[in-house]
Amino acid sequence: MIQITMPLNFLGSVYREIRQALVDMGEMFDLLEQPADVQDKPGAPDLRVTGGEVRFRDVKFGYDASRPILKGVDITAAPGAKLAIVGPSGAGKSTIGRLLFRFYDVTGGALEIDGQDLRDVTQDSLHKAIGVVPQDTVLFNDSIGYNIAYGRPDASQEEVESAARAARIHDFIMALPEGYDTAVGERGLKLSGGEKQRVGIARTLLKDPPILLLDEATSALDTETERDILESLRAMGEGRTVLTIAHRLSTIADSDLIVVLEAGEVVETGTHDDLLAQNGRYASMWARQSAERADAEDAA
Ligand code: ATP
Repeated sequence: MIQITMPLNFLGSVYREIRQALVDMGEMFDLLEQPADVQDKPGAPDLRVTGGEVRFRDVKFGYDASRPILKGVDITAAPGAKLAIVGPSGAGKSTIGRLLFRFYDVTGGALEIDGQDLRDVTQDSLHKAIGVVPQDTVLFNDSIGYNIAYGRPDASQEEVESAARAARIHDFIMALPEGYDTAVGERGLKLSGGEKQRVGIARTLLKDPPILLLDEATSALDTETERDILESLRAMGEGRTVLTIAHRLSTIADSDLIVVLEAGEVVETGTHDDLLAQNGRYASMWARQSAERADAEDAA
C-alpha cells in the first residue's frame, strides 16, 4: 500500500506544481501579452496625461462578434476622481478594465484619457500611465525585493523600501530571514493573500502612475487585513484617478461616483447616498450585502 501511495503522492505534488506554474504563466500572459490585432498606429504619439480624465463614450465591445458584452457604456471619471464599478457577476466589469489597458479595441464608441483616443497613442505610454493592482498579484520565483521592483528595475533600494513602507509590508520583510533578498513565489516563501496584495501595492507605488485600476479581490481577507489594505489603497489613490472594480460595496461606499453595470449596460450612477435614495439595484445589493455582513458578524 505504502509503495503505491507514495509515488502517487509524489506525482500529485509534481502535478500541482506544474499546474501552479501554468496558472502563474497564464496570469503573467494575461498581464503582459498583447493580442496581435492590437497594434500601435504608425507614428503614434505617446499618451500625455494632463489631469487623468478617463472617458468611455458609448463603448461597445464583444469578445466575439456574435455576443455583445458591453452595449454602449458611457462613464466619465473626472481627473483625480474615485470611481467604482459594481454589478453582478458577468456584467462586464473586468472587461472594462481590460479595455482601459487596451488588451482589446472597442468595437464601437471610444475610450479616451485626457481627450486622447487610446487607439491613437502608443501602448507603451498607456501602460506606463495605468497602474493595475490585480485580484491576485503574480509573484515571480525571485527575491521579494525583485518582485517589488519588477516593472521599474532601475529603482534604488531606498525607493523599493519606501514603496514597501507605504504599502505596509516593510516590517514584515525586515523580519524575514534574508530581508529583501528572501526568495518568494512557488519555490520560495509562500505569501498570504494579504501579503501578496501588499507586494502588488508596493509594485504599483514604485511605478507611480497617474491612473489606477484596482480589481478588488473576491476572496475575503480577514477584517483587520482588509482594513489595513484599504487604507494603503486609499493612500495610494491620493492625487490619482482611481477606477475600482468592486465586489463588496462596503469598500467603495465613499467613492465620488459609483456605476452599476448589468448585462453590459450602465443601469444606475451616483454617489452611495444618491443610489440608496434611488432605491433601485444598488440599494437592494447594499441591503443584501449588509444583511450578509451582519450574519457573518453574528456567526463570528
Ligand atoms: P465577475 O464579477 O464574475 O468577475 P465581470 O462583471 O467582471 O464578472 P467579465 O469578466 O467582464 O464580467 O465578463 C463579462 C462576460 O464576458 C462574461 O459573460 C464572460 O463569460 C465573457 N468573457 C470574459 N472574458 C472573456 C474572454 N476572454 N473570451 C470570451 N468571453 C469572455
